[in-house]
Amino acid sequence: MTVMLGCIADDFTGATDLAGMLVEAGMRTVQMIGVPTTPLPDDVDAIVIALKSRTSPVETAVADSVAALNYLREAGCSQFYFKYCSTFDSTDKGNIGPVTDMLMEELGTKFTIACPAFPENKRTIYKGHLFVEDVLLSESGMRYHPLTPMSDSNLVQVLQRQSKHTVGLIDWNIVNAGGQAIRDRMQRLQADGINIAVVDAISNKDLLEISEACVDLPLITAGSGLATGITKNLRGVGVLPHQSAKQDLPLTTGKRAIICGSCSQATQAQLNDALARGTPGYFIDPVLLADGSAVVEDALAWAAPRLLDGPVVIYATAPSNRVKRFQDQLGRERAGALVEQALARIAQGLVKLGVTQLVVAGGETSGAVVSALAIKGLRIGPQIDPGVPWTVSLGDNPISLALKSGNFGSVDFFYKAWSLLNE
Ligand code: ADP
Repeated sequence: MTVMLGCIADDFTGATDLAGMLVEAGMRTVQMIGVPTTPLPDDVDAIVIALKSRTSPVETAVADSVAALNYLREAGCSQFYFKYCSTFDSTDKGNIGPVTDMLMEELGTKFTIACPAFPENKRTIYKGHLFVEDVLLSESGMRYHPLTPMSDSNLVQVLQRQSKHTVGLIDWNIVNAGGQAIRDRMQRLQADGINIAVVDAISNKDLLEISEACVDLPLITAGSGLATGITKNLRGVGVLPHQSAKQDLPLTTGKRAIICGSCSQATQAQLNDALARGTPGYFIDPVLLADGSAVVEDALAWAAPRLLDGPVVIYATAPSNRVKRFQDQLGRERAGALVEQALARIAQGLVKLGVTQLVVAGGETSGAVVSALAIKGLRIGPQIDPGVPWTVSLGDNPISLALKSGNFGSVDFFYKAWSLLNE
């Protein structure tokens, strides 16, 4: 059977978030890490290709996304979904705009939408402005993000700075009037020379109306929130059977660890919760890393005996003033890469020590860890919290992985993650 939905995610936690949503909504989904070189598993309705293109140089992000698109076209996908973060994480140069531009060009399409809204996780868009919980994006913790600080909440402006196309808005009054009104507005905008429309959405109902209006668009760009509606579309037109796509994940047994490279507010609170519950913790000091100290070896030597008694947490997570001090010393990108590489080597070491159940907090961090572990694909299991499912790696020696986008999850996320495995 033909695969219907081909998805390109700009980071690894985003990819599992999307794949989890698709599975919950009834699509048999595989998540591949990077552009696959192996044939597809049979019987899938959706493929999610996880790239690490959010923060790579623009040319690399574009080239990787086109390679992923070509694979998905070859696999027979009929609609394409470019997935980015619900907080629209990007820099003024990209990569959401340039990747969208190139995907449109490759698909020969003149119009698409941009809709990162995820109301269930309190990301809403009104009059083109993105809100995180009750505040504008620019007033949220995202303004301090180590790699993609977001200081402008007006998504039309943000995307216009990145894209060569003209960016417009479909505002909430239109969205609230329903699918046909949205479709009419899409046509009007195109007639007015607008090629990409940011779309307001403040509720799941809005997302369903928007997805209905997108049924014929070859390319959708969005957060994971819109995915449920897209699945409903396919079911509505009878191409997707009514089915549950949930599969029992193979059980892994072994040691447990958490790696935290996210400095997001949610992760800081979750880390404190885990430490307060008695999880032994080890701080990776970036200053020592930069000095060339044997931080990775020290962390693993610390972890080895403690792993016998239960999960440990190894973290670089620090408050924004501390991160900034380190970035001022080293430069933002070098600082980020240095920490990511260290955490990735620690993940390798932990697996050698017998860890088979690993939670990773942070999108870039997850990318670095999954690459270091040479994982080619993931099977998607139950959600721990919205947007974060447990997964199991494909191939020999499976590892259970929960890849958590920094800002996702309730304060007791780590505790919940282990509880779910204990069930
Ligand atoms: P999130 O999902 O919260 O965005 P990411 O892992 O994507 O988390 O990004 C966090 C970035 O911050 C990574 O590049 C990580 O290496 C970097 N980082 C983590 N801790 C520190 C620190 N103490 N100082 C500087 N950079 C850090």
